[in-house]
Amino acid sequence: MNKMNKRDKKPTALVLGGGGFIGGHLAKKLKEDGYWVRVVDIKDEHEFWNHNDICNEYVCADLRDERKVSLVMLAPNQHSLDDKENSFDEVYQLAADMGGAGYIFIGDNDANVMHNSALINLHTAYHASKFSVKRLFYSSSACMYPKHNQLDPNNPNCKENSAYPAAPDSEYGWEKLFSERLFLSFMRNYNLDVRVARFHNIFGPQGTWEGGKEKAPAAMCRKVAAANDGDDIEVWGDGQQTRSFLYIDDCVEAMLRFMRQDTFKGPVNIGSEEMVTINELANIALKVGNKDKKSYIKNIEGQEFIDKYGFKCPMGVRGRNSDNKLYKEKIGWEPTQSLYEGMKKTYNWINQQVNL
Ligand code: NAD
Repeated sequence: MNKMNKRDKKPTALVLGGGGFIGGHLAKKLKEDGYWVRVVDIKDEHEFWNHNDICNEYVCADLRDERKVSLVMLAPNQHSLDDKENSFDEVYQLAADMGGAGYIFIGDNDANVMHNSALINLHTAYHASKFSVKRLFYSSSACMYPKHNQLDPNNPNCKENSAYPAAPDSEYGWEKLFSERLFLSFMRNYNLDVRVARFHNIFGPQGTWEGGKEKAPAAMCRKVAAANDGDDIEVWGDGQQTRSFLYIDDCVEAMLRFMRQDTFKGPVNIGSEEMVTINELANIALKVGNKDKKSYIKNIEGQEFIDKYGFKCPMGVRGRNSDNKLYKEKIGWEPTQSLYEGMKKTYNWINQQVNL
């Protein structure tokens, strides 16, 4: 591992999963803000950025391997486990085996999702404590909220205190809930200073936009960008399920504000309260792509979907919206970007990728 210049008093940050979408944006911002940043990811490079853009040191490592976690947890000027003064100032744990509905809700990836992410989190919590990191952020997900509170598309309940009795609708959500509890137990028993946030559908440029792990906003933008005049835009399900989507810059800002205050530890929602149906999201993609006069939505579900894809249409819960009351009350901030503006930027970037 690199040593940092001794006279260099930069704050230090470790971004686990920094080769991914949110981690890449976060690492870039930390570096721009003057942090010394180490990124760790199983990918040997970030898909869309050079190492220099996002970090001082990029380590390609599998965080399911405990030895690797222990190696990367040693900060650049930290001499030993006892050297608490030079431990990492901020650790962000974003590495996970994850993807959109076509990955998480079809059942085939359940064992991998639970096993891979739980191992990463178990090793991270343990070694972050051992190496006395000063503060750790854990990215949980809205998928941990109980299904029974999200049956009404117009009135889902995703308040932080609605989490129990627990009943997530996916193994991904169960693993997130387990790991929230894991990090909070290390806080209680080993004084690990944690911040736990529950992300609600983060989107924006430099995210996965093809290959099966992409989320709804990226998938819609890709389909619209690739559509010829008059082509249908396929939307999975009846399109009446509701969601909210947070633009990536607002997500990074919300994470940093949450991390840089001393009292409130979460869990707290990080999301947008601008709820739309999935068909409305598709219509926004058509509009920002300037194809809303030539192409129309085609909803696909039931047997038609199974015949085409070979598995049941993955829908997720009927309704979900971020509830930002607690975040506003504790941190005093709320997102600034509208869904439309965020989709415009995302579409422009995906359009370039599609037409490369
Ligand atoms: P992402 O898939 O782009 O990033 C995750 C990164 O983790 C990837 O680069 C991946 O290569 C890396 N990773 C996976 N397994 C690894 C391993 N064994 N060792 C090292 N690296 C490994 O996902 P993202 O959208 O950036 O999400 C970041 C975090 O936020 C994840 O924990 C995710 O569950 C959570 N989250 C994201 C959203 C969202 O809408 N994007 C919503 C809720 C929660």
